[in-house]
Amino acid sequence: MRKNLVAMLRDTTTNPDGSSFAIEGPCRCTPAWPGLETTANGYVLRGLPADAYAPLTMPGVSPLVARCVRCNARYLEPWITDPDDAMPFAFAREDNQ
Ligand SMILES: [Zn+2]
Repeated sequence: MRKNLVAMLRDTTTNPDGSSFAIEGPCRCTPAWPGLETTANGYVLRGLPADAYAPLTMPGVSPLVARCVRCNARYLEPWITDPDDAMPFAFAREDNQ
């Protein structure tokens, strides 16, 4: 099961709906949305709520999906990847072999 989960996360870039990573539905935390995270081909990155989507987080353009760090609810408002978190660009190179 664990192995299957990892395999699905590694398919993030070819599975835009992100259904294996985030749960559809409202955040059940108090306060809501204590933190966001996303996954990119097996790497976990912090996400931040934002006024507008970034190119890397744009629905329909980017495969990245944000979820609550605690309850795993999918975050449906605009968000960006945390600029203080190193973007693992290695995953892109791995995909372009
Ligand atoms: Zn939550």
